[in-house]
Amino acid sequence: MSALLASPIDLHCHSTASDGSLSPQGLIALAVERGVHTLALTDHDTTDGVAAAQAAAAEQGLKLIPGVEISVTWQQQVIHILGLNINPQQTDLQQGLMALDEQRHQRAEKIAQQLEKAGIKDALAGASVYAKGGTISRTHFAHLIVERGLARNVRKVFRHYLVRGKPGYVAGEWVSLEQALSWIHAAGGIAAVAHPVRYKMTRTRLKKLLTEFKELGGQGLEVVSGTHSRDDNFQMGMLAQHFGLWASAGSDYHGPEHFWQQLGAIPPLPDTCSPIWRHF
Ligand code: AMP
Ligand code: MN
Ligand code: MN
Ligand code: MN
Repeated sequence: MSALLASPIDLHCHSTASDGSLSPQGLIALAVERGVHTLALTDHDTTDGVAAAQAAAAEQGLKLIPGVEISVTWQQQVIHILGLNINPQQTDLQQGLMALDEQRHQRAEKIAQQLEKAGIKDALAGASVYAKGGTISRTHFAHLIVERGLARNVRKVFRHYLVRGKPGYVAGEWVSLEQALSWIHAAGGIAAVAHPVRYKMTRTRLKKLLTEFKELGGQGLEVVSGTHSRDDNFQMGMLAQHFGLWASAGSDYHGPEHFWQQLGAIPPLPDTCSPIWRHF
């Protein structure tokens, strides 16, 4: 996709601080190249990339929205909550993210133990190399398994090793919806439910989630996502309107090797939507 076709606003992407493959500076350079003028950095459970992204954005005249994508366990299911326009220095938020980091390390150890039983040795050390000192995630184990020649690509690794029922799957114990929202609000941010279609919930269950989210003071829904189809975007636009939620839009960019999901490669919000960025 050419730069001209990219959306000027992209409120969801990942750097090497979590499971993205570009550094924060690299993301900013790419955003400039693609004509994205407002970018939110939303790494999984960390804001460690924000300062570097902000510095690079200031140099390039780009607006960087400090963000985070928090891992939540809601009714035995993992969901992701975006915190947008947060103060990354806020204490409650940082303490919460530190606890999540600890959870991630404990889970990574268990994943490695299980992979060891499946004949994959030293997986923790191997995955840590890919994590480059940032937040460790299943993606880093996936890269290692590809490197060892046990699967052709990351998607195949997930399917055969890292999802429920497979040898390297360990259910993460993340935080409650209430907790995630309280940290985001303490940090002065706006919370949005990320990529709602990805959870494969029934409409009834999704409505239950959004009802609870609203009751806890949640304000946004990621209507347009790089992981949604056009019809998904449209449907989520209707749902946002129904619940009175502000609409967010983000590519969920992880790096150039995920060629199907490029920075800024998202369509505009449906007309019915109230854009979340008006409230930053
Ligand atoms: P974690 O938060 O450590 O459980 O890892 C979740 C991350 O793994 C997501 O944010 C995606 O980047 C990646 N991921 C999850 N499922 C898949 C999949 N089927 N194929 C490729 N990447 C995936
Ligand atoms: Mn990810
Ligand atoms: Mn996500
Ligand atoms: Mn994401």
